[in-house]
Amino acid sequence: IKILICQGTGGISAGAKKVEAEFRRVLQEKGVDAVVGKRCEVIHTGCRGLCANDVLVDIITEEQGRVTYDFVQPEEVEQLVNEHIVGKTVLEKRKAKPYYNTFVDAQMRVVMSGCGQINPESLDAFLGEDGFKAIEKCITTMKPEEVIEEVKKSGLRGRGGGGFPTGMKWSFCKASPGEHKYLICNADEGDPGAFMDRSLLEGDPYCIIEGMMIAAYAIGCDFGYVYVRAEYPLAVQRLQRAIDDCYEKGYLGQNIKGWGLNFDMRIKMGAGAFVCGEETALMASIEGQRGMSRPRPPFPAVRGLWGKPTNINNVETFANVRHIINKGSAWYASLGTETTKGTKIFAVTGKVKHTGLVEVPAGMTVRSVLYDVCGGILNNRKFKAVQAGGPSGGCIPGEILDTPVDYDSLIKAGAMMGSGGLVVMDETTCMVDVARFFLSFTRMESCGKCVPCRIGLKVMLDILERITEGRGEPSDLDTLLDLGVAIKKASLCGLGQTAPNPILSTINYFRHEYEAHINDKR
Ligand code: SF4
Repeated sequence: IKILICQGTGGISAGAKKVEAEFRRVLQEKGVDAVVGKRCEVIHTGCRGLCANDVLVDIITEEQGRVTYDFVQPEEVEQLVNEHIVGKTVLEKRKAKPYYNTFVDAQMRVVMSGCGQINPESLDAFLGEDGFKAIEKCITTMKPEEVIEEVKKSGLRGRGGGGFPTGMKWSFCKASPGEHKYLICNADEGDPGAFMDRSLLEGDPYCIIEGMMIAAYAIGCDFGYVYVRAEYPLAVQRLQRAIDDCYEKGYLGQNIKGWGLNFDMRIKMGAGAFVCGEETALMASIEGQRGMSRPRPPFPAVRGLWGKPTNINNVETFANVRHIINKGSAWYASLGTETTKGTKIFAVTGKVKHTGLVEVPAGMTVRSVLYDVCGGILNNRKFKAVQAGGPSGGCIPGEILDTPVDYDSLIKAGAMMGSGGLVVMDETTCMVDVARFFLSFTRMESCGKCVPCRIGLKVMLDILERITEGRGEPSDLDTLLDLGVAIKKASLCGLGQTAPNPILSTINYFRHEYEAHINDKR
């Protein structure tokens, strides 16, 4: 019998440690193992991404299978033990809605399969789930070029937002001449509301290490950095513990497990600048400089960290890799759409019934994600729009709600996949306010290096503020459109190149709301 208690940042904040302590106390005091004739194992797992209903507890028994309870309080633990474990009766009224039992509902958990399932602080637990079998398979049966080919065939594209084919990126870095090459895992997750990288690091840190080891073997890198934002203390703590364990048990360092692979890694904590999610700013930050973007070329694959060839992928990308190697590229390529393979994790927030992380096959429609998986709009209000792709993403209105969630369809709709943020708005939301909110975020986070982004976003924000304060002019909309297009074209890095998206897409789909503000002076 297993009792799994969700202990990511959300679970612990909601009191999961007290719930765990209470389970241990009750099980011991009642001698439950002897009563039921089976061992009851209490396991603290990582975050499964459904923090709104924490504390989540799964009880797995032979008779009942897996049953999830939500909002569990320490005072309820004795009843759960008495009735569910000893009495073998599910407490139907206390069961979580199917959405919160992520292992049986409409989602497809591949990348997050370990989150909420294993103890993230136990190397043995990871090994028990075929941990490090993929890297062993690579080293013992495949040449580095064959690993890259396998990743290429899988169709995996970078999950940090760019969507660049991962295998091709690896091949560029491999082809660059250089004795030392660096690998970087980008965990500087800064999009408001997005926390898929944090959940993966908190819930299954060893799978990130294994993904990086496979990339290191394929490319020929001997040192890896994980760049994590300092605002994720639990993720940093669990990842550091996992790295230390791997060094101790011979899964990191020189001649790993006698396989001949040398790979060292360490964590570098970011200091809270959103722009450091951009790869050249991130590398500047690791080098101890101010986090500002650099012009490209040269690309990191040629001249990256400390001037050496460098490959950068984000957390979710690395988390996919072991599954591709273990199950094969053909299996992976069978999931998703023609141009976007596999699954994608989305962080769904805003006016929707069930918020949190969902993992679905790429290509599912936005409608299906919001209504079938997340239960529809809060208070059964009317859907107005969903902003996809983080603070620089565009808004998708109801007319195109059947847009599939894949890289190309979202861009065509004026939004983008980004790292996977979905902010849902209902009929009560003012779209001009939404645009102003996101622009104020990106303007504040602009590093200031180039004029279009530094000055242009400020001018756009001034105009938006004027409009929302009832001081807008009819010519403002044309000015916003002209500026938006110019800033996208002329900015140095991705932040400026995408920051105008929320304004451009809301003017495109909700122009009447801007006109109402201007004409009615409100
Ligand atoms: Fe900095 Fe913005 Fe220019 Fe990027 S686009 S370099 S964030 S000023």
